[in-house]
Amino acid sequence: MRIFDPHIHMTSRTTDDYERMAAAGVQAIVEPAFWLGQPRTSVGTFVDYFDGLLGWEPFRASQFGIRHHCTIALNPKEANDPRCVEVLDLLPRYLAKDGVVAVGEIGFDSMTAEEDRAFATQLELAVRFDLPALVHTPHRDKARGTERTLALVAQSGIAPERVVIDHLNEVTIELVHDTGCWLGFSIYPETKMSPDRMVALLRRYGPERILVNSAADWGRSDPLLTRATGEAMLAAGFTDGDVDRVLWRNPVDFYAQSGRLELTDVGAVAATHAGNSILRGGD
Ligand SMILES: [Zn+2]
Repeated sequence: MRIFDPHIHMTSRTTDDYERMAAAGVQAIVEPAFWLGQPRTSVGTFVDYFDGLLGWEPFRASQFGIRHHCTIALNPKEANDPRCVEVLDLLPRYLAKDGVVAVGEIGFDSMTAEEDRAFATQLELAVRFDLPALVHTPHRDKARGTERTLALVAQSGIAPERVVIDHLNEVTIELVHDTGCWLGFSIYPETKMSPDRMVALLRRYGPERILVNSAADWGRSDPLLTRATGEAMLAAGFTDGDVDRVLWRNPVDFYAQSGRLELTDVGAVAATHAGNSILRGGD
């Protein structure tokens, strides 16, 4: 089973995770820029973080045979902090770089006027840089947040097939399904979607435009839940081809729209590195 995790925050994870992911078939990932838990107090910390997403983290992933790309943005939560908003002026410098395959995560957290502005500005940047957009939907008041998200996306003029609306569930899939946007689902250990609930949605809606991710980060999460979803699909009677479509070809098709997805020899690299743990610590 080859797996492309289209949304995972490896900066928050250990080398053990990289090892287990490689052993489970994860060969490529996209790491969206997001909130670090501890609020940032200046734009300089964004610069260091973005540089890490483009430099150190792809190197770290490569030690385990995993191809790493990222998305760059001001996240919805920190769009409310005046100390952070200036980073919007720095984004063009990063959106021009090769390893960046989308603008994201953008969207709503508490649905404030500040979030509205940052979201609209960054959709404009996606259009200007000819990049797809990765859109986070809020944890609270998700249905209303998804509706407002879709309204802003429509207003922005970005082509719907270049947008993924992420963290959907059984309720919000109904709102997004006929819009032409891609549908993202985060599989979590306890809250939100589980592998079995994901399989039920795939049965009902089919695999078209569906992206499944672990969204693993510094919270309770599990980078192997993409694999668990593939296993649950097979147990439910889906074919290997269906699993490959959802866990590999769909994310490839979505991010290939950036023109920057670099997957040459990725399988061969994974085979060479399988079982190796060669990254030493920072000691
Ligand atoms: Zn995320």
